[in-house]
Amino acid sequence: MYKIILLPGDGIGIEVTKSALSVMKTVAELFNVELEFEKHLIGGSSYDAYGEPLTKETLQACYNSDAVFLGAVGGYKWESLPHNLKPEAALLKLRKALGLFTNIRPAKIYKPLIDSSSLKKEVLSGVDFLVLRELTGGIYFGEPREFDANHGLNTMVYFKDEVERIAHMAFKIARERNNKVTSVDKANVLEVSQFWRNVVHQVHKEYEDVLLNDLYVDNAAMQIVHNPKQFDVILTSNLFGDILSDIAGMITGSLGMLPSASLGNKYALYEPVHGSAPDIAGQNKANPLAAIASVAMMFDYSFEMKKAASLINEAIVKTLEDGYRTVDIQSEGCKIVSTEKMTQIVITNFKELYHNQAIGLFTL
Ligand code: NAD
Repeated sequence: MYKIILLPGDGIGIEVTKSALSVMKTVAELFNVELEFEKHLIGGSSYDAYGEPLTKETLQACYNSDAVFLGAVGGYKWESLPHNLKPEAALLKLRKALGLFTNIRPAKIYKPLIDSSSLKKEVLSGVDFLVLRELTGGIYFGEPREFDANHGLNTMVYFKDEVERIAHMAFKIARERNNKVTSVDKANVLEVSQFWRNVVHQVHKEYEDVLLNDLYVDNAAMQIVHNPKQFDVILTSNLFGDILSDIAGMITGSLGMLPSASLGNKYALYEPVHGSAPDIAGQNKANPLAAIASVAMMFDYSFEMKKAASLINEAIVKTLEDGYRTVDIQSEGCKIVSTEKMTQIVITNFKELYHNQAIGLFTL
């Protein structure tokens, strides 16, 4: 039995979490696995109910979970609140509290959407890599930090254990994929990057079957748009990863398609990359595919249910191949559907793929 905490949040977060839950329930039914769900407030909806964006109760529920699924937080209504009460503050606090030191963002081409990218088809076809971004250290957290009228100061610092744990994660994940890690730094200029590089190479001694290369971050940014097929797992620090994961995400198309996972040693959180999209919230228009693909990541990374994960992804591809689109990814001749309809179609395809492969196994 696995316990999953659902944190729908605000705006379309609520709608896409419904979609995600329907897919999780379908997995439970088909794969005969017991899933227990518990829903909690976070972000603006939590502020409205309790006067704070992340309550102790919600955090405690996450501490007792096998996985957390989050929709999205934020909205116009809460924009003028002080920083620590804003919906987004809940996210940072939650990631830190759960020790989620690795953020994983896949960059994978959905063939039926290849024309909606700004890159050429030949460059994109077959692209399939992950960006592993260190999430709880580096310049976003380093001390001292300050500014006045004459200067601004932040500190980029990494400690050995912080680099070691994410390097182990990268090599382990690469072993399950195409066995290659590209570590991205700025070791020609920054001491902290030279240190990062040294530690990554030390850890690599335990994974010599995995290919390791290093790239400077400026070159990595160019290579992602020039020849993205060369990558399998990109391993990098918090700041560089923030930028590179956005570049990597966008070469593959729309914001409504991008899933993510944040992992620590004990806890895991899965969420679509997009925000709460207040402009379309409550209209049954949101693209649920990023949320559904995040569910696939949950079954892959948290529950070792790789078959379920790959069938969910195949169901997404089949749905797109059949021409179904939400408004954000519409193209000529497509069939525009609502959030709920898109979810239903993915689930129908998922069930069909599951049964087809079961029949395939039976007749072998
Ligand atoms: P956003 O991602 O919410 O929306 C950007 C644009 O993309 C909007 O036009 C929106 O309609 C569209 N869009 C996003 N996801 C979509 C989907 N699934 N289907 C269809 N269209 C989609 O970013 P924003 O407008 O900059 O931020 C809105 C709020 O969300 C802000 O309060 C922001 O702080 C918050 N936010 C939260 C998260 C999070 O919870 N992880 C991430 C980013 C932004």
